[in-house]
Amino acid sequence: MTGNYVVEWNVQRRLAGRVEKRHLRIMRPEILTPLYQSVQVLPKIGPKLAVLLGKLTRGTENEDARVIDLLFHRPHNIIDRQKQPGAAHAQDGEIATIKLQIDQHVPPPRGNKRAPYRVTGHDDSGELDLVFFHAHASYLEKALPIGETRYVSGTVEWFRNVAQMVHPDHIVTAEDFSTMPLVEPVYAMTGGLSRKVFGRAVSAAVEMVPLLPEWHDPTILGPRGWPDFQQALLQLHAPQKTSDLDPQSPHQSRLAYDELLATQLALSITRQKMKKQKGVSRGFSGATSEAIKSALPFSLTGSQQSAIDQIEIDLRKPERMLRLLQGDVGSGKTLVGLIAMADVVEAGSQAGFMAPTELLARQHFQTMEPLCAAAGLRIAILTGKDKQSHRKAVLADLKDGQIDILVGTHALFQESVAFRDLGIIIVDEQHRFGVHQRLALSSKGVAVDVLVMTATPIPRTLVLTYFGDMDVSKLTEKPAGRQPIDTRSVSQDRLDDVISGLQRALAKGSKAYWVCPLVEDAEVLDLTSAEERHATLQSVFGNQVGLVHGRMTPAEKDAAMMSFKSGETRILVATTVIEVGVDVPDATIMVIEHAERFGLSQLHQLRGRVGRGADKSSCILLYKGPLGETAKARLNILRDTEDGFRIAEEDLKLRGEGEVLGVRQSGVPTFRIADLQAHGDLLEMARKESRLILERDGDMQNERGEKLRVLLYLFGLDEAIRYLKAG
Ligand code: ADP
Ligand code: MG
Repeated sequence: MTGNYVVEWNVQRRLAGRVEKRHLRIMRPEILTPLYQSVQVLPKIGPKLAVLLGKLTRGTENEDARVIDLLFHRPHNIIDRQKQPGAAHAQDGEIATIKLQIDQHVPPPRGNKRAPYRVTGHDDSGELDLVFFHAHASYLEKALPIGETRYVSGTVEWFRNVAQMVHPDHIVTAEDFSTMPLVEPVYAMTGGLSRKVFGRAVSAAVEMVPLLPEWHDPTILGPRGWPDFQQALLQLHAPQKTSDLDPQSPHQSRLAYDELLATQLALSITRQKMKKQKGVSRGFSGATSEAIKSALPFSLTGSQQSAIDQIEIDLRKPERMLRLLQGDVGSGKTLVGLIAMADVVEAGSQAGFMAPTELLARQHFQTMEPLCAAAGLRIAILTGKDKQSHRKAVLADLKDGQIDILVGTHALFQESVAFRDLGIIIVDEQHRFGVHQRLALSSKGVAVDVLVMTATPIPRTLVLTYFGDMDVSKLTEKPAGRQPIDTRSVSQDRLDDVISGLQRALAKGSKAYWVCPLVEDAEVLDLTSAEERHATLQSVFGNQVGLVHGRMTPAEKDAAMMSFKSGETRILVATTVIEVGVDVPDATIMVIEHAERFGLSQLHQLRGRVGRGADKSSCILLYKGPLGETAKARLNILRDTEDGFRIAEEDLKLRGEGEVLGVRQSGVPTFRIADLQAHGDLLEMARKESRLILERDGDMQNERGEKLRVLLYLFGLDEAIRYLKAG
């Protein structure tokens, strides 16, 4: 999980660095140094394996794993060698340990490299052959001398009525029997790495774990029977029974809590820091936002109004606002953002509104422009593809304070973009932005208030994890007059029916989206590419069919969207670029191909593109059968509810935390030890405790604070320590 946090803190460090150079020196406690060495210090691990292990345990390319990375690599299973059934009684496929008297060596016939080398042996119950391919005779003669006894352990197979063991996992003398692990952990592996080498490296790593000062309160450890950190790692890598693999076992819970506390503490420190940077108490009468409200053809929903109330309280306070506005698709977040901006502008500062794509930036600009005009606000747009002359003019006006609101994409945080007095940033559809970009922008104003808006219904546990203590406002209502969306799943085999249904609907004046999964990989031929689908639909509907996909230029995308909005085209074939934010209220049909390949929340986002007007809308989830039970259950959830939060919770249950936010696109970190499904209660506990810790000792300077700093280092969260006063 550290990757992203490190990025975050790196950037924050850069920001903070200007103010606080003297705290930049960062000292990892001496006692942890061994754990931060490359795994090359471990037996049998060379440069090549070190990089392989880096990829396996940290997801890095071309970087060595460190000892600590190996320690946090959890085993997921065990091999139990305790059974000693006797040679003749071992079951086929069973792992067994056998005390074998060695009888004979049978090398492969000369010139036949494919034939194995056999070593025959017996015990009281019967015979067993040891089988070796590509064997070194000299090694085997030494390891298995004729007439002597050896303990061998491995998988027994019955082959032509003879029990045999191909490449035993262990061969030891009776003397060394006690050194053979009777229960061995099994780890997720990659090619090029042998279980044996890995196991030895982990054992050596475990021995390097120092006894650390305990950072937890005895009242936390005692009642739960949690061991100390060193002991917990030891137990993690020496499971004795299946229940030791349980995330809720005492040692795993302890490590999970360590990780969660470290994370929450780091987030709280960061937040404390941001809050300490003085904010501005903004004075405004509300006349400007009133002007916007009266220009609307509708009135605000109760949720919108209460979110605005909360925001206005924040703005008037002399602290910085750090607020997350969560609202399901179509709940009307944009307007809330606009009103917050209007307030800040009335108070004399400027506002920045960031969208994840140019398409959305343009759309927001277009919806906001008339409202701004009504309220006397000067709004402009800046994107990466602007003409140089336009760009120059906008930048000059921005610096002069001739522009009140600037809408744009990540182009807003380029160095050259300077505001006269930036007061608030609205970040729309946050999960498409890198956290570091968000932070880079906040460096553009001294006391910038931040409102992050997201339509991704993030379950509470995830909000806590990834946003820490950010204040949260929720839009729980949809604007009045919205009708439920008729959702059904239909097999791809019935494509013809769907198309004729579409013909009827279009004849009545409807508009439809048709979404295809993105084709990144030319080899994945069974996915219908948007282009192909566009062609098929064109053969039926002619030039009423438009196309928009991620490989088009922004101008092409804009043009395609505009034609659809204006009604020139009536079917828009799209990849998931339309997933967030696009607003065409009179589109009422959504067809999603290969629905089974999408995340539930993503399907919900897509569906949210329809059902925005007063007309009845429908959503058709085309799937390629046959569907498994889980896949069926997932699609049924969508049919049964339109509550984004419920869908997200169900998705979390079915798919695990990463998928909900879409790890791939957002790079959201996952944990190394903690597992939110098993440790949700610990997360809550960690959040409370981290707050308490900082309330009592804001710079973590007392004795416990010192110990907790060690914890932060352990989980690679050192960057947060830079925010604390040097101890
Ligand atoms: P989202 O929360 O998905 O970003 P938008 O801000 O795009 O939603 O709003 C969706 C649509 O609902 C827009 O067409 C917007 O004009 C409209 N809308 C917003 N607030 C209201 C309201 N209180 N009553 C009716 N329609 C509204
Ligand atoms: Mg939106």
